[in-house]
Amino acid sequence: MTEPTLDGLRAETLAVTSGRPERQVDAPFNQPAVFASTYVGSHHPDDGDLGYGRYANPTWHALERAIGGLEGGRALTFSSGMAAAHAIVELLPASATVVLPTNCYLGVSALIDQRAALLNWTVRRVLVSDTAAVISAAENADLLWIESPTNPTIEVADLPALAAAVSETAIVVADNTFATPLLQQPLSQKAHLVLHSATKLMSGHSDALLGAVVVRSDRDDLYDRLEVTRRVHGAVPGVMESYLVLRGLRTLVLRLERAQENAAILAERLDRHPAVCRTRFPGLPNDPGHEVASRTMAGFGSLMAIELADAVTANAFIDRLNLWVHATSLGGVESTLERRRRWRSELLTVPEGLVRMSVGIEHVEDLWTDLEQALAVS
Ligand SMILES: *Cc1c(COP(=O)(O)O)cnc(C)c1O
Repeated sequence: MTEPTLDGLRAETLAVTSGRPERQVDAPFNQPAVFASTYVGSHHPDDGDLGYGRYANPTWHALERAIGGLEGGRALTFSSGMAAAHAIVELLPASATVVLPTNCYLGVSALIDQRAALLNWTVRRVLVSDTAAVISAAENADLLWIESPTNPTIEVADLPALAAAVSETAIVVADNTFATPLLQQPLSQKAHLVLHSATKLMSGHSDALLGAVVVRSDRDDLYDRLEVTRRVHGAVPGVMESYLVLRGLRTLVLRLERAQENAAILAERLDRHPAVCRTRFPGLPNDPGHEVASRTMAGFGSLMAIELADAVTANAFIDRLNLWVHATSLGGVESTLERRRRWRSELLTVPEGLVRMSVGIEHVEDLWTDLEQALAVS
């Protein structure tokens, strides 16, 4: 996590310093939450850059400078990760061809199916870890959607190889929600757009919904279209949410460091546990994503999944836990887990006994004690 970023400052520093107001005596040190639906106007359209609360807000802008600085591009924030994803797919015309990972965030998969039915799109689904298959599917495609590591199956894509092969002919989008810009920066690897559900690790406290798209700095054309889409669709971030996510972002480096340290220890123990059929975590040397993640990411992240024998076994395990919370979503300071197939809409390629785990920042031995007692009787 110590590679210098574009302006010479490292991510650890940018996470703390970017998006702050100008230094003036008695000015607030932090960007305040500016609650305003409108701003004082002028007769001249070129005066001022805010105008109306659906077009612009100083608190959004501070957060966008911080996220953009970390990813190395220009960020636009939205009311949720899905609103950001929707703005991206709105870039595509009718009859477009879209390549999507077989396993990816359920909402994105449903969104693309919905648009495909309306707009006569061709959707090609491929395992994102199969680099040759993705590149071949992306031939003549308009958009390649990469998610890596994937939710909830924790598969790893060779992002630099995919983006290098495809970015001349198709828009390349990387959902960087799981890795965060601390572990990979897709724009520097030739992707055009990065998607974030800032609801997750960026915010980190399970108290806000917010999404972001970060646009590569040579693609102002895409930035302008996305900005117009946000204006006319109105899926703008809340001011309070923007404030909370920026506040959360200040400690992302420390939270992620501790969480991924915990995840590595727990994955190694779970992998050896007789009740666990399979542990999915790219930090494990036997994980199919290990080689690519070691080569392309600055860390293995804080998300993992275990597979238990079946749904009944997994549910019983979850019911015996005391410290771990059974909840959807992920990336908070608290450790949560979820049997994903409890959702009727979850993709059928996700095993019934798969439990996704979002490792938090608690003491790792307390987390392990709880898992061990819940696994012991299964
Ligand atoms: C949660 C999530 C989303 C959607 O974000 P919301 O903020 O819930 O709308 C998109 N991609 C991934 C990988 C996610 O985990």
